[in-house]
Amino acid sequence: MNIILFGQPGAGKGTQAQKLSKKYGIPQISTGDILRANVKEGTKLGLEAKKYMDAGELVPDAVLIGIIKDRLLQPDAANGFLLDGYPRTIPQADALAGILDEIKKPIDAVINIAVPTPILLERLSGRWMSACGASYNTVFNPPKKEGVCDVCGDQLFQRPDDTSAAVANRLEVYQKQTAPLIDYYKGKGLLKDIDGTKDIDVVFEEIDKIAAPFK
Ligand code: ADP
Ligand code: ADP
Repeated sequence: MNIILFGQPGAGKGTQAQKLSKKYGIPQISTGDILRANVKEGTKLGLEAKKYMDAGELVPDAVLIGIIKDRLLQPDAANGFLLDGYPRTIPQADALAGILDEIKKPIDAVINIAVPTPILLERLSGRWMSACGASYNTVFNPPKKEGVCDVCGDQLFQRPDDTSAAVANRLEVYQKQTAPLIDYYKGKGLLKDIDGTKDIDVVFEEIDKIAAPFK
């Protein structure tokens, strides 16, 4: 199962990728999580990426292409992967196609989770994250114990780029740089549209109907 979870910030890519990962035992590859881990550890990559992330800008393509290539070659991705937050530009998608061609793992589906902007804003303002990639919401998806991750037990945190200025820019950046990928993947016959406004479990059922045949 080689799947791309696609959608605007706050659409539910991470939430759904976690559920698919748990059900099918294949890794969620979130470039946002990888970058945040580097920022936290203070690596050279993290130091470079932080300024873009805090401003809600995309980190340069060359950096992301290097990250995704390394990650896809890890042994745990041999039986499939769930890409969450990559690709975000046409050059990233072209690079991905080249890598997957080399390792003979074609993309099965690009799942486009559609959610209107007012709902995205509501979701992002209440989002709390865990370092393990789990995503919670104070209103829509609270953890069992306040401030603590159900999955790994770590303290939850709010992302610095979920503040209003960075969110507004991320939505603009999506329209300019990422939305063209919808036609790109439509043209390849891979795009599957999903209504992402429904409850998390309902959205998952819809996504699973698309994903299950690629098990
Ligand atoms: P993305 O990875 O696309 O940015 P997330 O999966 O982190 O999005 O979800 C954004 C926020 O919205 C989180 O707080 C999450 O708990 C919440 N959320 C995700 N899916 C839904 C849904 N179907 N209904 C309500 N809230 C949701
Ligand atoms: P969201 O869940 O809100 O869609 P992510 O966690 O995927 O956001 O990404 C957070 C930030 O990390 C982005 O705003 C961007 O700065 C950087 N980032 C993540 N993935 C990419 C990518 N594929 N290309 C460029 N920048 C990225």
